Amino acid sequence: MAIDSNNTGKHQFDAVIVGGGGAGLRAALQLAESGVKVAVLSKVFPTRSHTVAAQGGIAAALGNVAEDKWLWHMYDTIKGSDYLGDQDAIEFMCKNAAKAIIELEHFGMPFDRLESGKIYQRPFGGMTQNFGENPISRTCAVADRTGHAMLHTLYQRNIRANTQFFVEWFALDLIRDSEGDVLGVIALEIETGQIHIMQAKTTLLATGGAGRIFQASTNAFINTGDGLGMAARAGLPLQDMEFWQFHPTGVLHAGVLITEGVRGEGGYLVNSEGERFMERYAPHAKDLASRDVISRAISTEIKQGRGVGKNKDAVYLKLDHLGEERINKSLPGIREIAKTFANVDPIKDPIPIVPTCHYMMGGIPTNLDGQVVLEGEKVVNGLYAVGECACVSVHGANRLGSNSLLDLVVFGKAAGDHMAAAIKINNTHKALPADAADKTLQRVNRLENAQGENVTEVGDAMRKTMQTHCGVFRFPDLLAEGVREIDVVEKRIPNLTIKDKSQVFNTARVEALELDNLIEVAVATMHAANNRTESRGAHAREDFAARDDENWLKHSLFYKQDKQLTYKPVRLKPQTVESFAPKARVY
Ligand SMILES: Cc1cc2nc3c(=O)[nH]c(=O)nc-3n(C[C@H](O)[C@H](O)[C@H](O)COP(=O)(O)OP(=O)(O)OC[C@H]3O[C@@H](n4cnc5c(N)ncnc54)[C@H](O)[C@@H]3O)c2cc1C
Repeated sequence: MAIDSNNTGKHQFDAVIVGGGGAGLRAALQLAESGVKVAVLSKVFPTRSHTVAAQGGIAAALGNVAEDKWLWHMYDTIKGSDYLGDQDAIEFMCKNAAKAIIELEHFGMPFDRLESGKIYQRPFGGMTQNFGENPISRTCAVADRTGHAMLHTLYQRNIRANTQFFVEWFALDLIRDSEGDVLGVIALEIETGQIHIMQAKTTLLATGGAGRIFQASTNAFINTGDGLGMAARAGLPLQDMEFWQFHPTGVLHAGVLITEGVRGEGGYLVNSEGERFMERYAPHAKDLASRDVISRAISTEIKQGRGVGKNKDAVYLKLDHLGEERINKSLPGIREIAKTFANVDPIKDPIPIVPTCHYMMGGIPTNLDGQVVLEGEKVVNGLYAVGECACVSVHGANRLGSNSLLDLVVFGKAAGDHMAAAIKINNTHKALPADAADKTLQRVNRLENAQGENVTEVGDAMRKTMQTHCGVFRFPDLLAEGVREIDVVEKRIPNLTIKDKSQVFNTARVEALELDNLIEVAVATMHAANNRTESRGAHAREDFAARDDENWLKHSLFYKQDKQLTYKPVRLKPQTVESFAPKARVY
C-alpha cells in the first residue's frame, strides 16, 4: 500500500511503549495496573517478539539448590562484565531478582520444580558461589522454553489489565521538540500504509536487539535495532556499541541457538581429537566459563586446525551421555532443533556448533529508572528505554547468560513505576512541533524513487562487512578497513528503493526502513570497536590483547551526526555495599 502523507492519524496516550517483548510488556503491565492509559506498539504480534526464543532461563539468587546470596550474583555479574558494568545498576538488578521471580510465579509463569516443590535452578556460565568458588545453580527455567513461558504470562496479564495493543504497527521516529523533550513517536500502520502520530507524556523504547547487523546470528529477523536508529536520528548517543556477545553454541550454518543450559545440564565441547579442550582454557569453570572466553577458545581451536566437519569449521557439543530421559525432560526443544537444523539426534550424536552473534551489550544510555540520559547523566525529558535496546549498564563488556531476562523484568518494572509517577506530576501534553512528521515522511517517501538501490544488496554488504571486520577476534587492519567500508555502505542508504510496488502488506517497505536502523547500529559498532585500543569482555583485539583499566575503564558514547566518540566513567560505587575493584578475570 502506498503512503498517504495527507492522511495522518493522531492519537494521545499517557504512555506509549514501542515493543511488546519482555521489557515492553513488563513496563506496560506496571503502567496499566496503576491506571495509566498505555499503548504498546509492536511490529509483530507481541508473543512473537524475540523474548519468546529465550531458552535457558532467568537468574536469581533464590538458593533453592544450594546456599546463594544476591551479593555473589552481583560479584559474578561485575566480573562477567569485565568491570565495565555500572555497579549501582548491577546491585539494583541482583538485589531485586528474587522478588521479580516470585512476582512472575504469582503472575502464573509455570517454572520447573524441584522435588521439594521449590522452583528448579540450573547452573549457567559464570554463576558461582562465594565470589567465584564453585559453579552454582542460580538459573530458573521452564524446560528450555523459559522466554516463551515468560512472554505469554506477561501478555495475558496485560490483556487482563487493559493495555491497548497496536499490532503490526512500525514505529519510525521519535518526536522531539526544540527543547529536546520527547513527545511520542511517528508510526506506520503496516497493513494500510497509514502514518500515525502517537502523542505521549512518556515514551518508552523496548525494541530489543540488533543481531541482524551480522551474517550469522541467533537473533530473529525482526531484531533490527529500530529503537537505536530512532534514538540516533533524534541526536541521542549510543553507548558501548563495540561490545557484542558471540554465543559459543550456534548450530553450524543455521545460526540457531543451542542454549548454555545444555552445558549447565552437563553437556561439554570437544574438538576433532575428541579432547575436552575447555579444560585448557578455563581449568576451573571449564564448559561453564563466561561466553566470551568460550567463544574465543572455540575460534582458536578451529584456527589451529582442530575443528570438526568437512571444512573443519566447527566443534562438537556432546550431550548423549546425559541419557535420553534427561534430554527429553529438560532439553526437549534442543533435541528438536538439533534434528531439524543439524540433522543429528543428540541422544546419539554430538551437535556441530560455532560462535554466533547473539546479544548487544550496548544500547541507548539510561539511568536506573530507565530514563534516557545524556552526558553528565542529564535526563531526556519524556524518554525511557529498557531491555536489550537499553544500556543501563548491567552487562558491561560481556553479559552472563540468564541475566537478560532478569534485566527486562527488573528494569521494565522500574521504568513503569517512574513513568507512572512522572505522569502524575506532569499530567499535560506539550504542544507538538508543526513539522513533527516532515522528516519521517521524506525518509519513507524516498523509497518511491525507482532509480535507487536494492535493499537486499545493500543489507548484504553491511552484514558481510560486519562479519568480516568485527567478529570474535578483532584485527587492527581489518577494523580500519571495516570503518571505511561501513561508511561507504552508509552512503548508499539514502538512495534505497523498493521496486516491487505490487505487494500488499508493505513488507518490502518495512525491510527498507529496518535497514535505516541497522546501519546506525553497524556504523556505531565499527567506529567504537576501532577506537577502543584494549581487549575487554567480548571486544578482543589482536594488537591490544590485555585489558587496560588505566585508559579504558570507561563507557563509549557514539554520536551519529559527526561520528564523534566521547567517553564517560564507569560507575564503580554501589549504593549499599562495598565496591568490587577490578582484578584479573580468570575462570
Ligand atoms: C535465541 C535466543 C535465546 C536467548 N535465551 C536467553 C535466555 O535463556 N536467558 C536470557 O536471560 N536471555 C536470553 N536471550 C536474550 C534475551 O532473550 C533478549 O535479550 C530479550 O528477550 C530481549 O527482550 P526485549 O523485550 O528487550 O526485546 P524483544 O523481545 O526482542 O522485543 C522487541 C519488541 O519490539 C518490537 N519492535 C521492534 N522494533 C519496532 C518498531 N520499529 N516498531 C514497533 N515495534 C517494534 C518487536 O515487535 C518486539 O515486540 C536469548 C536471546 C536469543 C536471541
